[in-house]
Amino acid sequence: MNGMIEVATQAAATSRGVKLQRSLILQGGLVLLMMAMVLAGFFFTSAQQQTLIDLREGGRQMRITLDNLMEAEAFVLNRVVLDQYGDSGAFSRSIDNLESRRESQIAKLTPFLRADALRETDAGKILSSLHDAWNQAIALAHGGKRSEAVALLAARETGPTVERLRQAIDAYLVSWNAQFPIYEHRVEIGKAVVPLLVVLFGGVMLFAFWSAAADAKGRALAMTEATASRRQVTRLFEMTDMLQSAADILDANAVLKATADELIPGFGGALYVFNNSRDRLTLSTSWEVPDGRALPELIAPTQCWALKRGKPHTNRADAKGLCCEHHVSGSAVLEIPMIARGEILGLLQIFATGLAPEARLDGILPLGSALADGMSLALANIALREKLRSQALRDPLTGLYNRRYMEDSLERFVRLAERENRKFSVIMIDLDHFKRLNDEHGHATGDAVLREAAAAVVGALRETDVACRYGGEEMIVLLPDCDLDKGAEKAEAIRQRIEALSGQHGAAVSASFGVACSPTTSNGSIDLVRAADAALYKAKQAGRNCVATAPQRSGQNGGKNPVLVSAAPVLQAAE
Ligand code: GH3
Ligand code: MG
Ligand code: MG
Repeated sequence: MNGMIEVATQAAATSRGVKLQRSLILQGGLVLLMMAMVLAGFFFTSAQQQTLIDLREGGRQMRITLDNLMEAEAFVLNRVVLDQYGDSGAFSRSIDNLESRRESQIAKLTPFLRADALRETDAGKILSSLHDAWNQAIALAHGGKRSEAVALLAARETGPTVERLRQAIDAYLVSWNAQFPIYEHRVEIGKAVVPLLVVLFGGVMLFAFWSAAADAKGRALAMTEATASRRQVTRLFEMTDMLQSAADILDANAVLKATADELIPGFGGALYVFNNSRDRLTLSTSWEVPDGRALPELIAPTQCWALKRGKPHTNRADAKGLCCEHHVSGSAVLEIPMIARGEILGLLQIFATGLAPEARLDGILPLGSALADGMSLALANIALREKLRSQALRDPLTGLYNRRYMEDSLERFVRLAERENRKFSVIMIDLDHFKRLNDEHGHATGDAVLREAAAAVVGALRETDVACRYGGEEMIVLLPDCDLDKGAEKAEAIRQRIEALSGQHGAAVSASFGVACSPTTSNGSIDLVRAADAALYKAKQAGRNCVATAPQRSGQNGGKNPVLVSAAPVLQAAE
């Protein structure tokens, strides 16, 4: 019962846990992906911007190189060709600048030098050769050999070389400039895409937050549900525990009501239990019946679909669909058959009124079934206990109480009579010539006569009287609140009933009776039985099939022994 609910709860929690885990992984992955994309956008754009800066700087440096080249050549030409002294410091700086840019700038010009099979194609070497020619020409000019210096410049082709370098720088700058639009375009793309990515990232983060909040809510809901389920399971365990200590059906009903009140509040209920002959279910208890209406006291199993099918059945509030004959419209009723050890023991009804009562009943079916299961076991246990108790107290052949029970009851009745100053009588009964009856008609007939005689005894008694099998074919009847005369009258009534059994089995049946009364004839339980037994012996001696009373004790009724009038002789045993 509880296992069913627990397993369902665990399965729901596990599936919810797996879903939460998947959604967390998905959200985390999405956030990481977006973050990577935004970072990549940033790095890409700033790398393109850096390249643009580098490009601009590279172009500027190349132009400075060109200026230095032109300034140095102008100085040399002024000095050698025009014999004019320029700023030699500026020349030196230009040469130094060119030298310092040999690796960073001049080397880059090599690919841009116009191909010429006869000339040097390495820009560095060209620069070295140029410097060398210029230095030699200046030295010649300083020595007054200007015409030789001019011839040297012409021979070393310094003018065309400078022109070659200038053209290479121009070509370099043209190609350099061509790269600008590419990087500018990339920067523009970056500037447009990055904000979009940032917005998108913000959206993803919002979604992740929203989703995390929803997950947290889901987790909280799952926790609440799990707590409620745990509470229900605990309550059901408590119910099972309490039902085990229920002494009778009244105790079990009280536990059922209290548990239903807590587990399915707002729903009414009723419990029907099979009667002993198992042809009817009787109303055992009910609670919160809608509109306080009276429920039927009895239900026939053939009127009830839940009992016929052995499954829960719902009778609709509007009495449409398949409805039990006993159903009264106005409230929906969930009916759950209570089965234990393969036997249907009763029927649990749960009532719902108001909005969507059938759907609400569907929702509590597992709890209702658990309640019915628990209650079925309790009913089975109570029935079993009752059977065992009855077996321990009663004689199996006659159904009368056994001798042990008689002894306990006798003591109790005697003490009660003494305390309350009431009379208490005992009748001892012994069937006449029972041995002969057995011998002549068989033991089975003897048993049947014994059973019928016991029934005849019980049929003549009040509810408060107790009839027991004393042993063999002897019985004893305890009559609380009954004086000797009334006891003798009762004995006579029983005698007539037993005598009336004669002929039914083709045999004469009769019994002899001894009556004693406390305190009239006896004092205490042992004395009472002994006196009744002695009176019985007297009845036997007097010819059987009669009633004899024990003699009254002195001081009781003036010591006068009464004689009762009856169809058969009523004797008084000798003192
Ligand atoms: P009396 O009138 O003097 O009491 O004679 P009786 O034959 O009834 O007395 P007795 O004590 O001699 O025999 C009692 C017989 O009752 C003996 C026994 O076989 C029989 N009896 C005792 N218990 C049972 C029983 O449970 N079933 C049957 N069939 N017979 C029983
Ligand atoms: Mg006997
Ligand atoms: Mg006998």
